[in-house]
Amino acid sequence: MPVKLVLATRNSGKVIEFRRILEELAPGAVELISIDQFPDLIEVEETGATFEENSLLKARYTSQATGLAAIADDSGLCVDALDGGPGILSARWAGKHGDDQANLQKVLDQLKGVPDEKRGAHFLCVTSLVLPDGRERVAEGRFEGSILRAAVGTNGFGYDPIFQPEGMAISSAQMSPEDKDLVSHRGKSLRSIAPQVIQLLATLR
Ligand code: IMP
Repeated sequence: MPVKLVLATRNSGKVIEFRRILEELAPGAVELISIDQFPDLIEVEETGATFEENSLLKARYTSQATGLAAIADDSGLCVDALDGGPGILSARWAGKHGDDQANLQKVLDQLKGVPDEKRGAHFLCVTSLVLPDGRERVAEGRFEGSILRAAVGTNGFGYDPIFQPEGMAISSAQMSPEDKDLVSHRGKSLRSIAPQVIQLLATLR
Protein backbone atom coordinates (compact mmCIF):
# COMPACT_ATOMS: atom_id res chain seq x y z
CA MET A 1 0.00 0.00 0.00
CA PRO A 2 1.42 3.43 -0.90
CA VAL A 3 1.75 5.96 1.96
CA LYS A 4 -0.28 9.16 1.58
CA LEU A 5 1.58 12.49 1.34
CA VAL A 6 -0.16 15.86 1.02
CA LEU A 7 1.56 18.54 -1.04
CA ALA A 8 0.72 21.91 0.53
CA THR A 9 0.39 23.91 -2.69
CA ARG A 10 -2.46 24.85 -5.03
CA ASN A 11 0.05 25.04 -7.91
CA SER A 12 -0.75 22.01 -10.11
CA GLY A 13 2.65 22.32 -11.88
CA LYS A 14 4.44 21.62 -8.58
CA VAL A 15 2.21 18.59 -7.90
CA ILE A 16 3.00 17.09 -11.31
CA GLU A 17 6.74 17.72 -10.96
CA PHE A 18 6.98 16.25 -7.48
CA ARG A 19 4.90 13.20 -8.42
CA ARG A 20 7.27 12.54 -11.35
CA ILE A 21 10.39 12.77 -9.14
CA LEU A 22 8.95 10.45 -6.45
CA GLU A 23 7.74 7.90 -9.01
CA GLU A 24 11.20 7.74 -10.60
CA LEU A 25 12.82 7.10 -7.19
CA ALA A 26 10.32 4.63 -5.75
CA PRO A 27 7.51 3.60 -8.08
CA GLY A 28 4.21 3.05 -6.26
CA ALA A 29 5.64 3.89 -2.79
CA VAL A 30 3.89 7.23 -2.26
CA GLU A 31 0.40 8.48 -3.05
CA LEU A 32 0.79 12.21 -3.56
CA ILE A 33 -2.39 14.12 -2.74
CA SER A 34 -3.07 17.71 -3.74
CA ILE A 35 -4.27 20.11 -1.05
CA ASP A 36 -7.25 20.79 -3.34
CA GLN A 37 -8.77 17.61 -1.90
CA PHE A 38 -9.07 19.41 1.47
CA PRO A 39 -11.24 22.46 0.67
CA ASP A 40 -11.60 23.39 4.36
CA LEU A 41 -7.90 24.10 4.87
CA ILE A 42 -7.10 27.80 5.23
CA GLU A 43 -4.25 29.67 3.55
CA VAL A 44 -1.43 29.78 6.13
CA GLU A 45 -0.09 33.26 6.85
CA GLU A 46 3.61 33.38 5.98
CA THR A 47 4.78 35.12 9.16
CA GLY A 48 8.26 33.56 9.27
CA ALA A 49 11.46 35.56 8.81
CA THR A 50 13.12 33.01 6.48
CA PHE A 51 12.18 30.70 3.60
CA GLU A 52 12.74 27.75 5.95
CA GLU A 53 10.38 29.09 8.62
CA ASN A 54 7.63 29.81 6.08
CA SER A 55 8.00 26.45 4.40
CA LEU A 56 7.83 24.67 7.79
CA LEU A 57 4.78 26.74 8.84
CA LYS A 58 2.88 25.49 5.78
CA ALA A 59 3.97 21.85 6.12
CA ARG A 60 3.25 21.72 9.89
CA TYR A 61 -0.22 23.22 9.51
CA THR A 62 -1.09 20.88 6.62
CA SER A 63 0.10 17.79 8.48
CA GLN A 64 -1.79 18.75 11.65
CA ALA A 65 -4.98 19.62 9.78
CA THR A 66 -5.04 16.44 7.67
CA GLY A 67 -3.39 13.95 10.04
CA LEU A 68 -1.12 12.94 7.14
CA ALA A 69 2.51 13.52 6.19
CA ALA A 70 2.83 16.86 4.39
CA ILE A 71 5.35 18.62 2.22
CA ALA A 72 5.56 22.36 1.42
CA ASP A 73 7.99 24.77 -0.17
CA ASP A 74 8.79 28.45 -0.04
CA SER A 75 10.88 30.28 -2.58
CA GLY A 76 11.94 33.66 -3.87
CA LEU A 77 14.56 35.82 -5.56
CA CYS A 78 17.59 37.17 -3.66
CA VAL A 79 19.47 40.03 -5.33
CA ASP A 80 23.01 40.85 -4.12
CA ALA A 81 22.69 44.61 -4.75
CA LEU A 82 19.43 44.65 -2.73
CA ASP A 83 20.99 42.95 0.31
CA GLY A 84 19.19 39.70 -0.51
CA GLY A 85 15.83 41.32 -1.33
CA PRO A 86 13.11 40.75 -2.40
CA GLY A 87 13.77 37.48 -0.50
CA ILE A 88 10.73 36.27 1.43
CA LEU A 89 8.84 39.33 0.14
CA SER A 90 9.23 38.19 -3.50
CA ALA A 91 5.52 37.67 -4.18
CA ARG A 92 4.61 41.16 -2.91
CA TRP A 93 7.73 43.28 -3.54
CA ALA A 94 5.76 46.07 -5.26
CA GLY A 95 2.92 45.97 -2.72
CA LYS A 96 0.16 43.81 -4.18
CA HIS A 97 0.52 40.03 -3.72
CA GLY A 98 1.21 38.17 -6.95
CA ASP A 99 1.63 41.18 -9.28
CA ASP A 100 4.56 39.67 -11.23
CA GLN A 101 4.87 42.55 -13.69
CA ALA A 102 5.02 45.26 -11.00
CA ASN A 103 7.42 43.17 -8.90
CA LEU A 104 9.98 42.64 -11.67
CA GLN A 105 9.68 46.27 -12.81
CA LYS A 106 10.49 47.42 -9.27
CA VAL A 107 13.66 45.28 -9.23
CA LEU A 108 14.69 46.65 -12.67
CA ASP A 109 14.15 50.22 -11.40
CA GLN A 110 16.11 49.55 -8.21
CA LEU A 111 19.03 48.18 -10.24
CA LYS A 112 19.13 51.06 -12.74
CA GLY A 113 22.77 52.13 -13.17
CA VAL A 114 24.13 49.06 -11.33
CA PRO A 115 27.02 47.62 -13.41
CA ASP A 116 27.03 44.04 -14.76
CA GLU A 117 29.47 42.69 -12.17
CA LYS A 118 27.17 43.82 -9.32
CA ARG A 119 23.94 42.34 -10.74
CA GLY A 120 24.38 38.87 -9.20
CA ALA A 121 21.28 37.12 -7.84
CA HIS A 122 19.91 33.68 -7.03
CA PHE A 123 16.58 31.99 -6.57
CA LEU A 124 16.25 30.01 -3.35
CA CYS A 125 13.75 27.27 -2.51
CA VAL A 126 13.34 25.46 0.81
CA THR A 127 11.20 22.32 0.86
CA SER A 128 9.97 20.86 4.16
CA LEU A 129 8.57 17.47 5.10
CA VAL A 130 6.54 17.09 8.32
CA LEU A 131 5.25 13.75 9.59
CA PRO A 132 2.18 13.37 11.84
CA ASP A 133 4.49 12.17 14.65
CA GLY A 134 6.42 15.47 14.47
CA ARG A 135 9.51 14.34 12.58
CA GLU A 136 10.73 17.05 10.19
CA ARG A 137 13.22 17.37 7.32
CA VAL A 138 14.21 20.40 5.22
CA ALA A 139 16.19 20.71 1.98
CA GLU A 140 17.37 23.75 0.04
CA GLY A 141 17.99 24.43 -3.66
CA ARG A 142 19.75 27.40 -5.27
CA PHE A 143 19.63 28.69 -8.85
CA GLU A 144 22.50 31.13 -9.52
CA GLY A 145 22.40 33.95 -12.08
CA SER A 146 22.13 37.69 -12.58
CA ILE A 147 19.53 40.38 -13.22
CA LEU A 148 19.07 41.53 -16.84
CA ARG A 149 18.48 45.17 -17.85
CA ALA A 150 15.08 44.46 -19.42
CA ALA A 151 12.47 41.69 -19.33
CA VAL A 152 12.69 39.03 -22.04
CA GLY A 153 10.80 35.75 -22.65
CA THR A 154 7.29 34.53 -21.90
CA ASN A 155 7.73 31.13 -20.20
CA GLY A 156 7.74 30.58 -16.44
CA PHE A 157 6.37 33.15 -14.01
CA GLY A 158 7.43 35.75 -11.47
CA TYR A 159 10.92 37.12 -12.03
CA ASP A 160 11.89 34.66 -14.81
CA PRO A 161 11.92 37.34 -17.59
CA ILE A 162 14.65 39.34 -15.79
CA PHE A 163 16.74 36.40 -14.48
CA GLN A 164 19.69 35.17 -16.54
CA PRO A 165 20.92 31.78 -15.29
CA GLU A 166 24.67 31.51 -14.78
CA GLY A 167 26.49 30.35 -17.93
CA MET A 168 23.51 30.99 -20.20
CA ALA A 169 22.77 33.75 -22.71
CA ILE A 170 18.98 33.64 -22.23
CA SER A 171 16.55 34.46 -19.42
CA SER A 172 14.87 31.70 -17.42
CA ALA A 173 11.62 32.79 -19.14
CA GLN A 174 13.18 31.59 -22.41
CA MET A 175 13.88 28.09 -21.06
CA SER A 176 11.47 25.18 -21.53
CA PRO A 177 9.81 24.04 -18.26
CA GLU A 178 11.71 20.73 -18.48
CA ASP A 179 15.09 22.42 -18.91
CA LYS A 180 14.33 24.83 -16.05
CA ASP A 181 13.33 21.96 -13.71
CA LEU A 182 16.76 20.37 -14.20
CA VAL A 183 18.67 23.40 -12.91
CA SER A 184 16.15 25.42 -10.89
CA HIS A 185 16.06 26.00 -7.14
CA ARG A 186 12.73 24.13 -6.90
CA GLY A 187 13.89 21.13 -8.94
CA LYS A 188 17.09 20.90 -6.86
CA SER A 189 15.36 21.12 -3.48
CA LEU A 190 12.69 18.58 -4.51
CA ARG A 191 15.31 16.11 -5.79
CA SER A 192 17.35 16.67 -2.64
CA ILE A 193 14.48 15.93 -0.20
CA ALA A 194 12.85 13.15 -2.26
CA PRO A 195 15.07 10.26 -0.99
CA GLN A 196 14.41 11.36 2.62
CA VAL A 197 10.67 11.46 1.89
CA ILE A 198 10.79 7.88 0.57
CA GLN A 199 12.88 6.71 3.55
CA LEU A 200 10.74 8.35 6.27
CA LEU A 201 7.38 7.47 4.74
CA ALA A 202 8.46 3.81 4.61
CA THR A 203 8.62 3.89 8.43
CA LEU A 204 4.90 4.85 8.58
CA ARG A 205 3.71 1.70 6.76
P1 IMP B 1 6.27 30.69 -3.99
O1 IMP B 1 7.25 30.11 -3.04
O2 IMP B 1 5.94 29.70 -5.11
O3 IMP B 1 5.06 31.28 -3.34
O4 IMP B 1 7.00 31.89 -4.75
C1 IMP B 1 7.18 33.16 -4.15
C2 IMP B 1 7.56 34.19 -5.20
O5 IMP B 1 8.93 34.05 -5.55
C3 IMP B 1 6.79 34.08 -6.51
O6 IMP B 1 5.61 34.83 -6.47
C4 IMP B 1 7.77 34.68 -7.50
O7 IMP B 1 7.67 36.07 -7.49
C5 IMP B 1 9.13 34.28 -6.92
N1 IMP B 1 9.61 33.03 -7.54
C6 IMP B 1 9.80 31.83 -6.90
N2 IMP B 1 10.27 30.92 -7.76
C7 IMP B 1 10.37 31.53 -8.95
C8 IMP B 1 10.79 31.07 -10.24
O8 IMP B 1 11.13 29.90 -10.48
N3 IMP B 1 10.77 32.00 -11.23
C9 IMP B 1 10.39 33.28 -11.02
N4 IMP B 1 9.97 33.76 -9.86
C10 IMP B 1 9.97 32.89 -8.82
